[in-house]
Amino acid sequence: MAEPTFKAPKGTRDILPPESGRRRALIDAFAQQAELAGFGEIMSPIFEDLGVFKRLGESTDVVTKEMFDFFDKGDPPQHLALRPELTASVCRAFAEHRPTPPWKVWYEGPQFRYEQPQAGRYRQFAQVGIETLGTDDPQADVDAIALGWHFYASLGLREITLLLNSLGDPTCRPAYMEALRTYLSDNAASLSPQSQVTLERNPLRVLDSKRAEDAAIISAAPLMVDFLTDETREHFETVRAGLDQLGIPYELSPRLVRGLDYYTRTTFEFAADALATAQNAVGGGGRYDGLVEDLGGPATPGIGFALGVDRILLACDAEGVFTTPESAVKVFVVDVTGGSHALGVCTTLRNAGIGADRSYGGRSMKAQMKVADRSGAPFAAIIGEDEVVNGEVTLRDLRGDTGQQRIALADLAEHVARLLS
Ligand code: AMP
Repeated sequence: MAEPTFKAPKGTRDILPPESGRRRALIDAFAQQAELAGFGEIMSPIFEDLGVFKRLGESTDVVTKEMFDFFDKGDPPQHLALRPELTASVCRAFAEHRPTPPWKVWYEGPQFRYEQPQAGRYRQFAQVGIETLGTDDPQADVDAIALGWHFYASLGLREITLLLNSLGDPTCRPAYMEALRTYLSDNAASLSPQSQVTLERNPLRVLDSKRAEDAAIISAAPLMVDFLTDETREHFETVRAGLDQLGIPYELSPRLVRGLDYYTRTTFEFAADALATAQNAVGGGGRYDGLVEDLGGPATPGIGFALGVDRILLACDAEGVFTTPESAVKVFVVDVTGGSHALGVCTTLRNAGIGADRSYGGRSMKAQMKVADRSGAPFAAIIGEDEVVNGEVTLRDLRGDTGQQRIALADLAEHVARLLS
């Protein structure tokens, strides 16, 4: 094949059928479970004022290096950015509309980050997620984590590990940050050059480094859990007790800081053990009790998560679960009289809720049967001159062993529905 003139931009992909059908099924499954738990869908803009995302933290890679930002054609122009995640948009929407708390929303859609593309890492990727705004009840944390946990299980995934940590709150964070900064500064010479730069901006993010040369220093660094106030510790204990009550296993991960700066208290990540470590994070979330206020709203605690659709599907491939859904086409209409009868038969079947497709261009019986076979439809409805004269079709079983039979056109939809049920 000749090189195409244009290709999808670096880090983006076309999701073609039938893979797109599998993705849609995953999103539908998530929507259903979120709605069952009392979440309603929020549909927010794909771009926002750049300032919305800047609130995510000036020391976050997502904000400093990975933003797809641009100026619009206004006078003066507005500095906008494609969303790199959805929590900031949800908090902006909360501050703008002031819904009655607790406000529970779910979402799905593309996110954009200017990253170095590799397996499981794209510049446009999809997330599903939830946010609960307006309560700091630890039960809301448990509810959120449980929804994520059960969603993976519902897809058939078995090799998921839940990593859990508490990042403290503004009352205990400063003392910890001071201890961490002192420790890392004392050991700066042994850190990678990249981590030395990160240390200047935010010592917490050094803990996120996966570089081998940082491992020894990080493993001996002070831990947030040793600095929690009684209140924060109790909140964390209640979250853990709730997970125990639901029988959801977790690993305490005292160095889990996650990529975004806004997290407070409960922080968690879901890792797919079937994927390579560099891209095994299939979802994550936590509390962000200061973010709504940072965006100009009233002081409002929040808890939520985002799950990476692309990586979840990679994990499903690795575990051999949640395979491509069956074709919606149940009857392939093969019309060897020219094609106009297929028009009526397809319409009748579709109006009865039965998926139907056909060939175009008046092709031979053999050619049409080949397409019917490829379509995945379990039945072919064959229309020849004799069938037309008698007001019938020949229904052929393409996958089973019930052979073929002549059916009155008027009975076709009902007959197929019976066979399918
Ligand atoms: P984050 O918003 O960084 O916490 O990411 C939440 C989830 O989105 C991650 O656990 C990944 O599954 C997914 N994700 C984040 N960045 C990317 C990316 N560049 N490509 C694919 N998936 C991503």
